[in-house]
Amino acid sequence: MIRAVHAGGLFDPLTGETTRDAVVVIRDGRVTHAGRRSTTQVPHDAQTIDAEDLTVLPGLIDCHVHLTNLGEGLDFARELTTPPTLELMRAVRAARRTLDAGFTSVRDAAGTPAGVRMAIEAGYFPGPRMFVTVSALSQTGGHTDLHFMCGADLDIPLPDRPHSVVDGVEAMRLRVREVIRAGADWIKLCTSGGVLSPGDQPHHPALTLEEIRAAVEEAAAQGRKVMAHAQANAGIKNALKGGVATIEHGIWLDGDAIEMMLDGHNALIPTLVAPQWVVRHAEAGKMPAYAADKARAVIADHTTSIRQAVEAGVTIAFGTDTGVGPHGSNGEEFLLMHELGMEPLDCIRAATSVAAATIGMRGVGSLEPGSWGDLIAVAGDPVADLSLLARPENIRLVVKGGEVMKALSP
Ligand SMILES: [Zn+2]
Repeated sequence: MIRAVHAGGLFDPLTGETTRDAVVVIRDGRVTHAGRRSTTQVPHDAQTIDAEDLTVLPGLIDCHVHLTNLGEGLDFARELTTPPTLELMRAVRAARRTLDAGFTSVRDAAGTPAGVRMAIEAGYFPGPRMFVTVSALSQTGGHTDLHFMCGADLDIPLPDRPHSVVDGVEAMRLRVREVIRAGADWIKLCTSGGVLSPGDQPHHPALTLEEIRAAVEEAAAQGRKVMAHAQANAGIKNALKGGVATIEHGIWLDGDAIEMMLDGHNALIPTLVAPQWVVRHAEAGKMPAYAADKARAVIADHTTSIRQAVEAGVTIAFGTDTGVGPHGSNGEEFLLMHELGMEPLDCIRAATSVAAATIGMRGVGSLEPGSWGDLIAVAGDPVADLSLLARPENIRLVVKGGEVMKALSP
């Protein structure tokens, strides 16, 4: 099957240039050519996809989502009455909304079993290309310990989603092996407390350096990298010393942590929009007070921390923690990144070429020959107006592997 996407403009985030009157030729899901239409031999049997009035660019990538999280606040009564199958089915709707927002690839930062990725690959339902971490590993009392003071424990291990709580080096080795056995593409550790967890604090580190090192070593032995939920300064530094690849949230970076990230070529995934959504949910009465208090307390420091990293030239990859906020709202992160000093072109690179390199997913983030035919189109120049990428209704066309997943009529 050959498809030819006729684009009024073809924007290449790598060069920052737009080619007018362009065409992207996609054969059996892969790009064979992208460039000027006048100099391109389009096969006569190619099916045309019309984007004549639009600007086409590579499909977007979100490096931090949670597809099985509802994204509508935190309601413990609801969670207690949600069977695991229903929790799983949330991913079906979330996957559709993620695509509709222009995100054709994601890295799921825990909660979502590998079966969701496999179902999308098998075509059971539409969704983005996925990397999954399956379970986010934390210490007892840490960010993903869902054991509550009343004695209830909401972290119920499933056959394909191992228990999140782990303590000690040997236990960590075993758990990482179990998570990989369950199909994880990445390993997720929580090296600090967090905002949504009731029993810990974002500014406290979690897991020992030895535990982190053991996880990184086990992951590397199986060709995997490690992402760290790391908010506390000490938690960020332990993660970096331990060899993790990406720092998520990064609320309390300092000069030393930034130096370490520059030296180690680590990427930072800011998720600026996540605490904003915690506060919004709280204002709508959908978030426990403790979480809202923690979110309000971290927003200013978070912004300062990420701004410092941007100024120092740390690699910033696009990630939102969507699942805290509603699925499909991912694009708002572009506006927040721009507000704290990133150029629009760098914001778009963060969600295309930089994101692809950061998560190591092949064939995404660009439309060079051989890449997946994953592209989106907007009405205008996204560099001049980032809001074109910020809202799902502005994403006029979504194509994944050459298949039209969404097309709004003009
Ligand atoms: Zn997260």
